[in-house]
Amino acid sequence: MSGTNDVAGTRAPVLPGSTIGILGSGQLGRMIAIAARRMGYRVHTLSPESDSPTGHVADREIVAAYDDVEAVKRFAEGVDVITLEFENISAACVDAASPIAPVRPKGSVLHTTQNRLREKTFLAEHGLPVAPFRHVKWREELAAATEEIGTPAVLKTAGFGYDGKGQVKIESADDVVRAWTSMTGQEAVLEAFIDFKLELSVVAARGLTGDFAHYGAVQNKHSNHILDVTAAPADVSGAVNVTAVNLTRKVFEALDVVGVACVEYFLDRDGNLIINEIAPRVHNSGHFTFDACVTSQFEQQVRAVCDLPLGSTEQPRPAAMANLLGDLWVNGEPDWASALAIPEVKLHLYGKQEARPGRKMGHLTAMADTREQAVEKVVEARRSLDSSL
Ligand code: AMP
Repeated sequence: MSGTNDVAGTRAPVLPGSTIGILGSGQLGRMIAIAARRMGYRVHTLSPESDSPTGHVADREIVAAYDDVEAVKRFAEGVDVITLEFENISAACVDAASPIAPVRPKGSVLHTTQNRLREKTFLAEHGLPVAPFRHVKWREELAAATEEIGTPAVLKTAGFGYDGKGQVKIESADDVVRAWTSMTGQEAVLEAFIDFKLELSVVAARGLTGDFAHYGAVQNKHSNHILDVTAAPADVSGAVNVTAVNLTRKVFEALDVVGVACVEYFLDRDGNLIINEIAPRVHNSGHFTFDACVTSQFEQQVRAVCDLPLGSTEQPRPAAMANLLGDLWVNGEPDWASALAIPEVKLHLYGKQEARPGRKMGHLTAMADTREQAVEKVVEARRSLDSSL
């Protein structure tokens, strides 16, 4: 028995032919579902959305609120194991499902990572490096915390933030009132602003028996707080790479993660790694693995949650990934043929009907002899999609 991850007495590999349940129905679930179906699994997805990216490739799409306990129980009864592609799933949902089918990763992983304050406190308590931070409950506390942490600093809502949503930079004490107002009364975390050299992430997987496999450190460039381009491997020394992987492993062990997760880092100007955040699921910075690695993060997720051996993470060639946001559609349908005419460029579209600005609609991956060439190629391929340029 693996202990806390499972319904008592049920540990056995979930073999192909069984049904995997995915909570959430976006592009991450879609790519997990593609990997699962390729391996002969059936897939059910539950989310409040219909005609969803995951639903398009799943055997069953169940449309229900995550807090609809009866619907979640019925969903759990129809599957052999449950995983997720969206971490902001309530405890009520996990509690309803987990006595019926194992939920991997388990609820406590979600509880810790759903809230920045809990996550940072957890990391600090485990001796893992985070930026200095303070819990801020009201405006007066923010003024005091800003004095302690110093400026610049970043104020973030404690809960439910992603892609830079719910955060504001404080340049000086004069910004305190404006910054607090933007939190609309929500609890917040103030953290030191890191003058980083690079942003890195490590995507990895952990199985039920603690086996661990990682894709090494990759390098991420954000635009408007949204991931723009990932280069793999990252342009860092072997020592930084090893440290990032070791820290990631410690995070996985401390949380007792089963499945794929991602740890995002800042590399500061002195070469120190600081953990920014943890995503307890497959991650945008691991999308390149679909094309560039022997086992993608999506297949790895299936293997890990089904208690099968983790696959090789070997990456034969450097790769880069560029996100395709809805903004790309302003001049009409992108010119797919131009991008696809470039050798070693791969297109992924998520089947979303409405191309809203900032919405992740798809991505491109490119492979090349070097990281720099891969980045150049994927950026060029993306540029070629806009025929007005
Ligand atoms: P987050 O939503 O916390 O992942 O933040 C999104 C992006 O904002 C990060 O990837 C960074 O580019 C930037 N950012 C967040 N926190 C900090 C910080 N403490 N110092 C510098 N940049 C930050």
